[in-house]
Amino acid sequence: MENNQYGLGIVGFGGMGEHHSRTLEGNERIKVVSVCDIKPERVQHGQELGYTGYERYEDMLNDPQVSLILIATPNDVHKELAIQALEAGKHVICEKPVTMNAQELQDILDVEKRTGGVFMVHQNRRWDNDFRVIKKIYDEKLIGEVYNIESRVHGSRGIPGDWRHEKIHGGGMMLDWGVHLIDRIMVMVNEKLTKLYCEFSYVWQGECDDGFKLMLTFESGRTAFIEVGTLHYASLPLWYVNGTEGTAVIPDWSNKGEMTRLVDFEEKDAMPIVAGAGFTKTMAPRGEGNVEKLPLPVVESDVKEFYANFIDCVEGKAEPFIKNSEVMHVMKIMEAAFQSAETGQAIHFE
Ligand code: NAD
Repeated sequence: MENNQYGLGIVGFGGMGEHHSRTLEGNERIKVVSVCDIKPERVQHGQELGYTGYERYEDMLNDPQVSLILIATPNDVHKELAIQALEAGKHVICEKPVTMNAQELQDILDVEKRTGGVFMVHQNRRWDNDFRVIKKIYDEKLIGEVYNIESRVHGSRGIPGDWRHEKIHGGGMMLDWGVHLIDRIMVMVNEKLTKLYCEFSYVWQGECDDGFKLMLTFESGRTAFIEVGTLHYASLPLWYVNGTEGTAVIPDWSNKGEMTRLVDFEEKDAMPIVAGAGFTKTMAPRGEGNVEKLPLPVVESDVKEFYANFIDCVEGKAEPFIKNSEVMHVMKIMEAAFQSAETGQAIHFE
């Protein structure tokens, strides 16, 4: 390849495969050279965009221009495609969820170890600006010590009408969105998980979960609540985070949230208020000057760092940002969530 570039082949040239090809346009170290898909029309589309098109994966793996493989197929074939690529001496980027379960990931990691290839999972939502902002608030204690985090995504259109609503392909919202939201919480909290409880929703009455509610408890007592829903015509905020000195809210991806911070704790008892058909001191709002509204901190983030880190790892110059041990942990948490839902019990971790 010219200019110190690595040639990349994308297997699965659907929505996300094409998204990667666009994101990589102009990348100095990675050049998309070929695409492979089982649908001839997607291969043809790739050819129209200037890539070499393959219907047979083996042919792409034999292409000497291709030293990197990016897997963007439905989830059930990630494992076999990753193992074939590693066996062929390629380095691999794999879409999330990495596999259908933790054992499949272990099978890939065994081959990675033997072949010496780099295998990295595209947990791109670690670069979402909303997450970076919340992580900064958390790390820098901008609302005091965070004791509860709520992370949500709400849609109203159900599961898309593709493989995502079929179990055999790894459909359902836990594998689709849960994998991102759990991954980010685990990166941010970075503490031992002691307990989880999960319930899935099937409001659209399909075979796959169309949403879930997952409660995580950490060693310090800190909690995280993760919710995905696909029948919400009005959405709750993406983030609602409670600290000992404030609350942070990010309503949606426009990132126009705010922090409400305590200014004066006020030792004296609150004045009671009339509330509905009753009367309360406990829930009396804070008065003027007691709290202040602050803008969210500004954070820069660029998902292109992911690809740069992948190349640094291929060249042995860096540690991966997305560690396979972290990816494995998330796979096991998702398995525990399914177990919790099936048994109706909380799962406790040693
Ligand atoms: P999609 O249906 O749009 O595209 C998948 C493509 O793979 C299709 O064109 C299909 O024909 C092809 N395909 C299926 N089996 C194949 C095989 N054995 N060999 C070659 N091609 C094959 O799906 P999508 O939305 O692009 O999702 C693909 C993957 O990307 C999934 O794992 C999904 O979870 C992931 N994804 C990640 C993000 C993210 O933000 N990280 C977003 C969307 C999708």
